[in-house]
Order: sequence, then C-alpha cells, then structure tokens
Amino acid sequence: MMKCLCVQDFKCEIKIEADVAADPFWCTCCNLNLDLENFPISSSLLNSLEEWTMRYGEWIDWERDRLLPNALLLEQQHNIAGKLLTEKVKKELGEYYTFIFSPSTMASYFSNQLM
Ligand SMILES: [Zn+2]
Repeated sequence: MMKCLCVQDFKCEIKIEADVAADPFWCTCCNLNLDLENFPISSSLLNSLEEWTMRYGEWIDWERDRLLPNALLLEQQHNIAGKLLTEKVKKELGEYYTFIFSPSTMASYFSNQLM
C-alpha cells in the first residue's frame, strides 16, 4: 500500500468522506486514503468516526443491489452526522490540518437517474 507523505508538510487539505472499507480521511493532494491512527484524535472521536464510516451505504439494499425506499433521507442523515463530525475533527486537529467535508451524493444521484 502506498503512503501519503504530503500531509506531513501540513500543506494539503484533508477530505472527510465515508467509503466502504476505508478510513474516512483522504489526502486531497494525492487522493490516498489516510490511516486514522496516524492522527492525534481522541478515542471517543475516533470511535464516532469509525461508527459513522461503518454506516456508510446503509441506504443500499446490498442483496438486491438497489436503494432502499428511504435512501435519500438516510443519506441526508449520514451527511448531517458527517458534517458534525467534521466540526469536531476541526476542533481537535484544526490547528495542524485543514479539513473539508465531502458529502455522499450516491442516493441523490441514483434517485435522479430513476426519475
Ligand atoms: Zn498525499
């Protein structure tokens, strides 16, 4: 696995975005996924971030490979929670890094396709 080294210069913004089987921090310079454990985050915030990431895609019926009827609402809630988490991350690490939140648009994208 490649390692992002640019973040160590504190020049690159860090994008907070949930994805399946990845930590939610991404380097915006090289697009690499960043290991949460390399950041001095409090364990409670770390847990919240991990929980939030695990719930990514809960608007999808994986077995049938389609969106749940309330997918848009679930995705919205996920994004609201993500925004709040981003604010918490900024409070803890904002002195060293710049964070930007990237909301999920999957459900809205697919529901527009169906309509
Ligand atoms: Zn990087």
